[in-house]
Parts: sequence; C-alpha cells; structure tokens
Amino acid sequence: MSIVRKIREQGLSLKATSMIMLITSIVITGILLFASLRVYANFKALEKATDDYIELEKKALDLMEASDYLTEQVQCYTVLGDRKYLDNYMTEAFETKRRENAIETIGSVMPNSPALAELKNSMNNSVKLMDTEYYAMVLVLDATGDTDIPEALKDVSLTAEDAALSSKAKMALAMELVHDETYQMQKDKIREDFNASIDALKEKALTTQQTTEGVAQRALISVIILVIIQSILIVSMIWIHTRLGIKPVLQAVDHIKKDENIPIIGASEFRYLAGAYNVMYNTYRNSIAHLNYKASHDPLTGVYNRAGYDIIKNSLDMTTTAMIIIDVDKFKQINDTRGHETGDKALKRIADTLTKSFRSDDYICRIGGDEFLILMVHITDDPQELIENKIDRINSELSELRSDVPQITVSAGVCYSKAVIAPDIMFHRADIALYDVKENGRGGCSFYNDKLEVLAAHKVTSVSEVDEI
Ligand code: GH3
Ligand code: MG
Repeated sequence: MSIVRKIREQGLSLKATSMIMLITSIVITGILLFASLRVYANFKALEKATDDYIELEKKALDLMEASDYLTEQVQCYTVLGDRKYLDNYMTEAFETKRRENAIETIGSVMPNSPALAELKNSMNNSVKLMDTEYYAMVLVLDATGDTDIPEALKDVSLTAEDAALSSKAKMALAMELVHDETYQMQKDKIREDFNASIDALKEKALTTQQTTEGVAQRALISVIILVIIQSILIVSMIWIHTRLGIKPVLQAVDHIKKDENIPIIGASEFRYLAGAYNVMYNTYRNSIAHLNYKASHDPLTGVYNRAGYDIIKNSLDMTTTAMIIIDVDKFKQINDTRGHETGDKALKRIADTLTKSFRSDDYICRIGGDEFLILMVHITDDPQELIENKIDRINSELSELRSDVPQITVSAGVCYSKAVIAPDIMFHRADIALYDVKENGRGGCSFYNDKLEVLAAHKVTSVSEVDEI
C-alpha cells in the first residue's frame, strides 16, 4: 500500500506528526539562534569598526598636533630666546613622541594601509623639517650664549658664514628659518599628507562599515525569513493538531452526548480509538435492545407482554386510544382435548391474526394466559363500528378450518372515552365489557357503559335486571 493511500485510509499519525514537527521546530530554532548570533556579531564588528576609526583618527590627529606643537615651540624659541621652549621641543620630540606613537598604533591596527603610508609621508616631512628647526635652535643657542646644548643638537654645526654673524643677526636668521615661505610650504606638505591619511582612514572605515553592514543585513534578512517559517510552522502545528486531535475529540463528545456512534476522523490513533469505541458502543446498544425486547415481549407469540404494556400505557394519550381486552373462548378445552402444544400454536395464530388486523402503530400485548390487550391509538371518530367489524373478521378468520390448530373464537371488551381516564380504570372498564361478552354468548364484542358497571357490581347478566335494581 502506498504511503499516500495508507494516510488517506488510516489518517496521519499524531505521534509521527508531532515528532516531525518537533524535530523541524528544533532545527529551525537552532538555525535561528545561529543567524541571530551572526547578526549580533556583525553589529559588534560594525561598532568596532566605528570605534577603531575614532581611535585611529585621534592618533593621526596626535601626529599633526605634535608636529604643530614642535613648530610652535621652535617659533617661540626663535622669537623670545627663552630656553623653556627648547626644552619643551626636546621633550615632545624625544620623550612624549606623539608622532611615533601614532605611526606605531595605526601600523599595528592596519599595516600596509594607504592611511599608514600617507601618515608616514607626513612623519618623514616632519622629521625633514626638524633639520631646519635644529639649525634655527643652534643659531639661538649660539646667539644667547647658552652652552647647555641638548644631545640632538650636538652634531649640528653652523656654517662659517652664519657663525660670523652677530647675535642679533643670528636671532633674526633663526626666526626667518622657521617662519619663511619655504618652512610654511613644508608645513603645508605635512598637513596635506596628514589630510590624505585621514581621508584614507575614513575610506577604510567606510568600506569596513559597508561590508559589515551588508553581512549584518543579509543575516538579519535570514533571521526574518526564519522567524516567518517558524511562525508558519507554529500556526500549522496548531492547525494540524486541531484537525488531528481537538476537532475529533469535540465531535466525539458531541456524538456521545447524542448517544450516537462517533465519527472516524482525525489522527490514525484517534480513528483506532473511535473504531474501538463504536464496536463496544454498538455491542452494548444491541445487548440493551435485546434485553429490552426480551423484557417487554412475549417469547411465545412475539407481541408485547404485560411489562411491555405497563410501559406503553403510560406513554399514550388515552383520550385518543381505545383499549380492547381479548380473551380466547373456552381455551381450557383446547388444552385439555388437543394438548398444551396445540394450545400454544392457537395462541400464536391468534397473535398473528391480531397483528395483521390492526394498524402497525397500534400495540398488541399478551397480558395473561389466553388474554390479549390491544391499544388502538390516534382515534379521531367513534371507533365502535370499526372495532366490531374487526372483531367479527378476526373471529371468522380464526374459525376457518385448519389441520394444525382447532377453530377458535375470541371475546372482546372495549373501553374508549374522550374524557381523561387513567389506563388502569380503562383496563377495569374493558374487563367489565369483556365479562359482559363472556356472560352473553362469547365470540363477540362489547363496549363499556355505566350500566355494565352496575351489572358487574351485582354479578347480573342482563340489562333488564339492572333496570329492576
Ligand atoms: P373462557 O371462555 O371463559 O375464557 O374459558 P377458558 O377455558 O378460556 O377459561 P380461561 O380463560 O379462564 O382459561 C385460560 C386457560 O388458558 C387456562 C390455562 O390452562 C390456559 N393457558 C394459560 N397460559 C397458557 C399457555 O401459555 N399455553 C397454553 N397452551 N395454555 C395456556
Ligand atoms: Mg379464556
């Protein structure tokens, strides 16, 4: 059997479906977690790229500031001749070393980058400019007669021509060297390289940001797709479980309340359960029906018995019901002359004849040995003539000659009233009418009236006698 056919016939297995959904859900959750971590990592990388840029730009600025600081110190020294400016210069150049630190930091973060190359150019030009500055500072030292020459300046010697100049001229020359156009042009070159470095840094940071942003965006899209898939999966899980489990259970409860078989739908496990329940339920119903039938029917004739009559009488509208008690005439004789078995056959024949003679919604009951009771329901007109004719026909049928059963007649006592009368009183009255028939020749039919009641009470048999009473 193909899987599709098997599923169509037996339904999906709740166990298998739940397992598949659970595994799929776990896998998707795992991927979702991984993708979310990727998004997080990329945003962190983005953050780092921005921080790195800020840090490196600061470092690059340090270099330019240091260069400007050196210029400022040397210019002040040549103008004022104050020794402190020389010391400041030396401290920056050989102790603080902001320019070297900047190169080192940027070199470690982004070696071989254009930003580093441009910054190195800027640094080289700054170092080159130091030759001029050293010369200018030596001129000032010489002019001021300061003999405490810093280590860096010990190798710098003045030209013979400059050495011969007066102190004032030396000061003027020194000042010119660090203020003239050539010096400014070199300073501009340092600044240009520095700006180019900053641009390269920006460019690099932007590229890194864009790349990281692109990766983060893709990861974010995959997270969104996975969330959508996960949501669809959750909704499908609810839908499938509703169809496979909840709906069948609700319908089952509904059918159980209505005392019906439960529909075989939903998951294969539930179908199995429903099938098993239906088998048990039908067996139970059949046995109850069988027991009820046995309890309310006469096994010999198949019509209702006394217990059946007791149940039926309380469920009828007696104002539209005629009660007929039928007793077989001289039945004892049949038993005595033809035997009990023949008597039983005669009883069956009578029951069959009665069943045939009345409508299917009337009730035929055997309430005693040779005593039957008929409840004619839904009567609208006076039924006297109808009942009399029926009893006549029954008697003529039972009088037909047959080999297996003897000819018989029956007597019938009838009670019918449009007034509300309790079934037991109707029974009593029908019995009085039956007594009347039995007393007056048998094989016929009598309807209850008040005079019959008086007759029965005084055990007399003719109406003229009642009048005397
Ligand atoms: P009557 O015309 O006055 O009714 O005379 P009867 O002989 O029919 O008298 P009665 O109705 O009192 O007798 C009923 C007899 O029915 C008594 C009993 O032997 C017989 N009987 C009762 N139950 C059965 C049964 O199940 N099978 C058979 N064969 N006979 C039964
Ligand atoms: Mg009898």
